[in-house]
Amino acid sequence: MKNTKRCPKCGSNNIARVPDDAHRYLANSIAITKVAWVKRIPVARYVCCDCGYMENWVETQSERDEIKHTFG
Ligand SMILES: [Zn+2]
Repeated sequence: MKNTKRCPKCGSNNIARVPDDAHRYLANSIAITKVAWVKRIPVARYVCCDCGYMENWVETQSERDEIKHTFG
C-alpha cells in the first residue's frame, strides 16, 4: 500500500498517508524504553479512503534497527 499506492483489499488508489506525531498523547508510535527514558518511534499510517483499510509503517531504517535491537 505504501509502495504500490493501491489498497490491497479493495484495489482503490484513494490512499492517504497520515504521519505520526510521536510527541502527542496516545500517538501511534512504538515506545522503546531505555534505562531512564523512553524514545518514541513514529509509525506512519496509510489509510484507504474508500474501504478504511489501514497499514502501519516504521519508515526509516535506523528506527527499524532500534526496534530489532530492542524487541528482536
Ligand atoms: Zn480499500
